[in-house]
Amino acid sequence: MELESKETDYVIHACGTVDAGTFQAEHVVSGSVVLRCQQCGTRVWASPASCASVAAECDRTGLQRKVICFSCALPYLRSGKNQTMPPTAGQLAEIRTELSK
Ligand SMILES: [Zn+2]
Repeated sequence: MELESKETDYVIHACGTVDAGTFQAEHVVSGSVVLRCQQCGTRVWASPASCASVAAECDRTGLQRKVICFSCALPYLRSGKNQTMPPTAGQLAEIRTELSK
């Protein structure tokens, strides 16, 4: 009997990188934390509103969070198999505040 291969679903938390590179975060929101991409290990920034948004989605769906950098997120985005969450009111407010500084 062949073992069934089951793809695991996650709530993907895609983040800009801390260090120089294509997806280095240009603006870092106050209160952001440094996490590690769970695929390549690079350091990434995660804003408070993004963390809250992802945590709410994990609570809603029962899925686990997977933090990844934008480079590692590209294949997920290109696959067309994923749903992308629109920015929350909290994330938009966070961006507005940071850009007005
Ligand atoms: Zn990565």
